[in-house]
Amino acid sequence: MSRISIKNVDKTYAGADSRAVADLNLDIPKSEFLCLLGPSGCGKSTTLRMIAGLENLTSGQIQIGDQIVDAADQGIFVPPEKRNLGMVFQNYALWPHMTIEENIEFGLKIKKVPAAERKTIIDSVLTKLGIVQYRDRYPSEVSGGQQQRVALARMIAVSPEVILLDEPLSNLDAKLRLDMRTELKRIHSELGSTFVFVTHDQWEAMTLATTIAVMNEGRLQQVGTPEEIYDRPANRFVAEFVGTLPINMLDMKSLDNKTLKAWIQTYLMQLNVEIVDAASVGIRPETMNLHPNNEETPKDTSRCKARIVDLVPTGGNWIIELDVSGTQIFVLSRLVEDLTVGNDITFSIHTCDLHAFDTDGNRIQTTQPKQNLKTKIED
Ligand code: ADP
Repeated sequence: MSRISIKNVDKTYAGADSRAVADLNLDIPKSEFLCLLGPSGCGKSTTLRMIAGLENLTSGQIQIGDQIVDAADQGIFVPPEKRNLGMVFQNYALWPHMTIEENIEFGLKIKKVPAAERKTIIDSVLTKLGIVQYRDRYPSEVSGGQQQRVALARMIAVSPEVILLDEPLSNLDAKLRLDMRTELKRIHSELGSTFVFVTHDQWEAMTLATTIAVMNEGRLQQVGTPEEIYDRPANRFVAEFVGTLPINMLDMKSLDNKTLKAWIQTYLMQLNVEIVDAASVGIRPETMNLHPNNEETPKDTSRCKARIVDLVPTGGNWIIELDVSGTQIFVLSRLVEDLTVGNDITFSIHTCDLHAFDTDGNRIQTTQPKQNLKTKIED
């Protein structure tokens, strides 16, 4: 299966005054499930379309396996149908006048697969995706979720080495999305193809990808495993974009709060980070430990006092809004009896859960190891 190598790629659309993709370097190892993640307009689809051959590069080079498929300065451009790719886009187009079986067979006929073999492949993919019973129906006679499965079946039938997916689950309801996510993971491990999946949904990326590439304004921000992206965001943008509930980001220059500053300093010292270097610090709401029954421990500077301002249920965990001497901090935690609006509590974190960023917004690297075991609520 193919590795994809993207080197110094720029893309400026005709008439546009800024680059849709800027100076992109990305190596996607074979059999990877890579998610391109970022907000709308950050250049994800453009990147995918350039890999597919649906867009030319303005400059740079893309290689799939051993073959350079696009190199602007060498005049090389391999058309999409010669790249051994499978693609499923948000608006997957099934042929309306063909049955589901005929839709799947179409690609195999183009590839000149003999009839007997076609039958075996079709049976296999229809079974794999649980749509055997719909083989003789037309696309309009099955649900949106089933059509999506047909689109996937049609794609995997031709065993592409590279599978490109652009927000393929966005038209599905929550339950179907979950089912299809599981399905995609299974297909990926069975086929061993290289997957590139575009999404703006960080949860989708976290749950699907083996590697996530985060983009913003046409530029790559960070490449890493979901754990790396979440636990060690390379910059403020990644820290703020990834996370079910936004990270608490505190701007140290404008933070007029002695209590909180002193508390943060305790952790920065443990991380060997100079307070003057930390332009901002981030703390994920779900990494905070609450101590509701705390007896006053004034000497313990790793604990900070706060008042509970609001408790919001999310079904399971609660969003707990705290007032720390005038600064708003959010915690995500399960609820215990002592947590009541108006009560005072203290909170702490594990040192490795404090993210410090410099004036350019880049992560200040520390050697603090990640602790795997976390207690959310401690007495
Ligand atoms: P994403 O997939 O992350 O939402 P896109 O790759 O679609 O982002 O778009 C990146 C930028 O390129 C956006 O500013 C978008 O408006 C612009 N763009 C996308 N397609 C075209 C096009 N065909 N012509 C001109 N500009 C485009």
